[in-house]
Amino acid sequence: MLYIDAKYAQILGSRLRNFKQKKDYLWNYSCPVCGDSSKNKLKARGYIYRAESDLFVKCHNCGYGTNIGNLIKYVDTKLYDEYVLERYKAGATRYNAHKDVAEILEQPKEELLEDDILSALTRLDKLALDKPNHPAIKYVEDRNIPRDKWYLLYFVAKFKAYTNSITPKFVEPIVDEHPRMIIPYFTSAGKCFAFQARAYGNEEPKYYTIKVDETQEKIYGLERIDYAKRVIVVEGPIDSLFLQNAVAVSGASFDTPTIRSILSNATIVMDNEPRNKDIVKQLEKYINLGYSVCMFPDFIEQKDINEMILHGGKTADEIMELINTNTYTGMEAKLKFSTWKKI
Ligand SMILES: [Zn+2]
Repeated sequence: MLYIDAKYAQILGSRLRNFKQKKDYLWNYSCPVCGDSSKNKLKARGYIYRAESDLFVKCHNCGYGTNIGNLIKYVDTKLYDEYVLERYKAGATRYNAHKDVAEILEQPKEELLEDDILSALTRLDKLALDKPNHPAIKYVEDRNIPRDKWYLLYFVAKFKAYTNSITPKFVEPIVDEHPRMIIPYFTSAGKCFAFQARAYGNEEPKYYTIKVDETQEKIYGLERIDYAKRVIVVEGPIDSLFLQNAVAVSGASFDTPTIRSILSNATIVMDNEPRNKDIVKQLEKYINLGYSVCMFPDFIEQKDINEMILHGGKTADEIMELINTNTYTGMEAKLKFSTWKKI
């Protein structure tokens, strides 16, 4: 029913602000659901896109995602009735499964991740082109962070002033100003809701985490996850950049509502510290909750993934393989745990 959907996308377009066709079966508009936005009328973060033989919509601001029929209904119920009738006459029975928007949209990543919070920052993949010898580039090179992930990282020269421009965090006038690497957190719709700021020097704390939207759960990497595949859950955002289909919880617990909702499809990879009482206790808890957990073999001495790469001589692929071959669940995990823990 693609031709009917496409016809109605055009009709619907006349009722949507900033509506324009980007290419075949891809349209962009200002989302009527969230207003997109009340401050800036030029914003247009809604997309109509094709998935197999149907059209779907997704707003990268509010996350509203559904089939095009529902958006038509939202905007104009009369038009919706016509649409349903026309589809019915043409023999349509139902929609195909709603595919994840990330699979469909072939936009540049930059467009997906564009955000007001980040516009004042310098993205590292761009900085690398302009100033390949910049200390911020040297830093990601020294840590062996894969180059194809640099677009997810930013540099800020005046970290405290920048943070205060978003949320009042530091007392003015600011003292001890310094640069940091910014690691933004995005919702699955690609909206930045928090950022972590890592010190380059000895500034304390080494990491700040600033939440812009308090309602979001602090999970890093959600916008890049393929839920049809196994999801690797690690502690640190930087560690997650070395792995495929990985998120980071960067908090006290791995057992958050989001991670629990994918429990059967998630592998928890805690720091490799079989002598750390706290880690051992937590790992046992996750095993008992039914999670699949990774327990690295004894010959792995490094405690986290970046260490394994920097000092253990491992490649990211080798670590993925290690995780895949050392993941246990249920009774098997309990047995393995009894020999893995060293306290
Ligand atoms: Zn919206």
